[in-house]
Amino acid sequence: YNLQPLLLNLLRDRLVPELWNLLSRASEQAEKRGWHLYLVGGAVRDLLIAGKQESRAAGKQLTLPPPPLPPPPLYLQDIDLVVDGFHRSADVGAGVELAKALQTIYPEARLDVHGSFQTAALLWHKDEVLGSLWVDIATARTEFYPYPAANPEVEASSIRQDLYRRDFTINALAVRLTPPHTGELLDFFGGLIDIEQQQIRVLHANSFIEDPTRIYRAVRFAVRLGFEIEPQTEGYIRYAIASGIYDRSLLENSKAPALQTRLKAELKYILQATYWASALQLLASLEALKCLHPTLELNEQLWKQIRLLDRWLRRFDQGKSLVHWQMRLEVLIAHLAEEYRGKVAENLQLPMDSIQRLQHLAHAHNQVVEFLSANRLKSEIVQLLRQYELRTLILIAIQSKRFIRRTIWEYLTILANIQSPLSGNDLKQLGYQPGKQYKQILDKLLAATLDGYVTNNFDAQAFLAERFPVK
Ligand code: ATP
Repeated sequence: YNLQPLLLNLLRDRLVPELWNLLSRASEQAEKRGWHLYLVGGAVRDLLIAGKQESRAAGKQLTLPPPPLPPPPLYLQDIDLVVDGFHRSADVGAGVELAKALQTIYPEARLDVHGSFQTAALLWHKDEVLGSLWVDIATARTEFYPYPAANPEVEASSIRQDLYRRDFTINALAVRLTPPHTGELLDFFGGLIDIEQQQIRVLHANSFIEDPTRIYRAVRFAVRLGFEIEPQTEGYIRYAIASGIYDRSLLENSKAPALQTRLKAELKYILQATYWASALQLLASLEALKCLHPTLELNEQLWKQIRLLDRWLRRFDQGKSLVHWQMRLEVLIAHLAEEYRGKVAENLQLPMDSIQRLQHLAHAHNQVVEFLSANRLKSEIVQLLRQYELRTLILIAIQSKRFIRRTIWEYLTILANIQSPLSGNDLKQLGYQPGKQYKQILDKLLAATLDGYVTNNFDAQAFLAERFPVK
């Protein structure tokens, strides 16, 4: 295929004009310094998928021009650029230099430089035209060769090596932004065919051993894009998991914080997406939940709990204070035997309150279940359950039998909101001396209300006259 004109059209038509201008500026700056600039990663993948859908909609092949009516712009929020500095050691900081040059053109953008990686990021935070936009600029990662600088094969091999380090063929595509051949697609590993055939394919057999978080990424892209994990790639995933790589790298080795951080980021991404349920099922079918703990399995019971959680989140998260993805993860971890929970939560770098909740869950669960299994007064139920915070109660509820679950639900929806019919002010007016006994009186009055002895003001006063006569 000669995709060059099509890709240029796609870039021009599908990007908001300001972003297209930004890319043109970046390309000018790189060209001026004798570098090549490439658009890589997710942006290229998403552009090609969008192009494919448009062509399909118009009943045409990818090689034909796009339909006459321009579709709405593709709002990209993350742009990855790679600068290829022709292997001159002086140019290792090319990405950073280019980012700095762009910032002088766009002073409103914030510049972040990650020194050790020779990458820089420009961030437009809620810009009026560009929205929230991250532009990451990296220098093509490659070893320096003793070849002449202008050797085109070496030039190509540098960006090729950068792309070869990536996860999947569909993410290892690049579009050249600098002339000559602006708009040329660099597709060394068959990414375009995989987009056509809707396949997630790794670039080499060792990919998942090298970086186990790619297992989660494979699932995320498969479910999000509606692609299949290509059979050989699936084989590599199963092999990596069976080899126990996770047991070693994640669980025993707390010296792998970078891996844990990335795994947590992927888990978060998946568990907060609209497609979390399908992704979780796919992870389970690949036995990839073993990555969290070797004993973790998505059995029927856990699946039921995680669906139940959704109902509880919908009902009790009106203030939007519950972090849904984290609650889902907590349910997964809570499914493990008691002794593993705290450690897994720690390994995944969950916040302290979450680690503690999981560490103490078994104790709280036993206490609540034992207590509620006997016949209890409503006031006794409230007294017990109000010691726990909402998140703990939800975790306990979804792990419990229906009877316990309903009691906790009743507590949260009704009992916790019932108030004593009289206030401290009312007590004052009734002639009680203000002091410590107010709390005791009001507590008793609330208990009597919960248990149905007191239903109105009149009852309340009679109750007080009998139990706490004014001295
Ligand atoms: P999204 O639209 O979800 O942001 P993306 O492809 O931009 O998709 P990022 O996580 O932002 O995903 O990563 C950007 C690029 O970096 C990817 O397209 C891929 O080429 C590369 N990449 C990211 N993570 C890995 C990894 N673990 N291993 C190899 N390459 C990776």
